[in-house]
Amino acid sequence: MLDRPRAVFREDHEMFRQSVRRFVEAELAPHQLAWEDAGIVPREVWRTAGGAGLLCCDVPAEWGGPGGDFGHNAVVVEELARAGLSGPGFVIHSDMVATYLVRFGNEAQRRRWLPGMCEGSSIAAIAMTEPDAGSDLQGMRTTALRDGDHYVLSGAKTFISNGQNCDIAIIAAKTDPKARGHGISLLVVEADLPGFRRGRNLRKIGNRAQDTSELFFDEVRVPVANRLGDEGQGFAMLMTNLARERLVQAIRAATTVETVIGWTVSQASERRMFGKRLADFQNTRFVLAEVAAKAVAARSMVDHFIALQLEGRLDPVEAAMAKLFCTDLQCEALDRCLQMFGGSGYMQETPIARAWTDARVSRIAGGAAEVMKEIIGRRLFEGGGT
Ligand SMILES: Cc1cc2nc3c(=O)[nH]c(=O)nc-3n(C[C@H](O)[C@H](O)[C@H](O)COP(=O)(O)OP(=O)(O)OC[C@H]3O[C@@H](n4cnc5c(N)ncnc54)[C@H](O)[C@@H]3O)c2cc1C
Repeated sequence: MLDRPRAVFREDHEMFRQSVRRFVEAELAPHQLAWEDAGIVPREVWRTAGGAGLLCCDVPAEWGGPGGDFGHNAVVVEELARAGLSGPGFVIHSDMVATYLVRFGNEAQRRRWLPGMCEGSSIAAIAMTEPDAGSDLQGMRTTALRDGDHYVLSGAKTFISNGQNCDIAIIAAKTDPKARGHGISLLVVEADLPGFRRGRNLRKIGNRAQDTSELFFDEVRVPVANRLGDEGQGFAMLMTNLARERLVQAIRAATTVETVIGWTVSQASERRMFGKRLADFQNTRFVLAEVAAKAVAARSMVDHFIALQLEGRLDPVEAAMAKLFCTDLQCEALDRCLQMFGGSGYMQETPIARAWTDARVSRIAGGAAEVMKEIIGRRLFEGGGT
């Protein structure tokens, strides 16, 4: 019932989906538990994925990409979610960093960094969050002070996805430490520059196959040529891209909800107690009916916004609504469905247990749920009503 035909995807998207699904089943899913134990996905996986066209799908061929569109990126996000995978961090690489380079990089920067990212030989991260500045990014303390043709980068970032594996990272830093938002610039920093240091691979409750790190910058000399866009425009660039990033989180959440309903229907159809199937209890059918109705609402919303993103018309406030609604639903649905699995739902080897812990971050990262509500509320009261 939840796998109705979807008008938003073309035939080429659906054909691509089949090849992504085969890749995920053969190359990623069998290793997931081992990668979760290791806390990281081996670098070779990125090369294989790049070779199969899974990375940076919408980067044009002239910069080494597969030349698809946002629909192809969405297919990758959905197929990773459908398989319940918490790593590798393809989304940060393809939907965040590559998008910044395409949108805000100059021709030389695109030619320098995108081909390696598309083929998977170069892994990318983006570092905004600091120990004392997450939701309030304008309060960041990392500085990049001009010294001739270089910036001298000093400071620390934390919670950085792909932080252990990355070859390049977009670093948000204050080029004017006295200013707030207007003082922030974005620098592309190669991880082999002297003074670039990786901290611990942080131990997380979920998304354990994706490496997440502290990063430290001890007077790293970064060429001015590595700056994206104009000096002081970094915060504006971050805000411009957020709509797409939030839509991606909503896509992942909506797909996870559908997937988990499927797992739970199977579980409830097989598990027997008190002389009948778990599915025969009215509670089971009512819970799943409620979650399924919301899953259809999430899917309808997300597909509508994918279509708008494909047309270049996605509104940031609507993207915030999609992220808020779908990630809240993801956490609610997982909690209610896990209950149907009893003790086995608490065991790490059960997919639903891992999906439950993986889901929690979706209401925090990429803008906390409360930040989404502020964005929506501001439009309601200051932006001409609904
Ligand atoms: C697994 C993981 C991966 C991540 N990957 C990256 C990455 O690759 N790059 C990167 O830069 N960052 C990354 N982050 C950081 C993430 O974006 C931040 O954790 C997030 O922005 C919240 O910032 P914070 O943790 O400093 O929490 P804080 O900003 O301290 O917020 C704490 C809480 O305060 C509340 N709050 C915040 N703002 C408001 C408000 N306006 N009104 C009311 N309440 C509010 C919310 O409940 C929020 O959860 C990652 C985080 C995690 C956990």
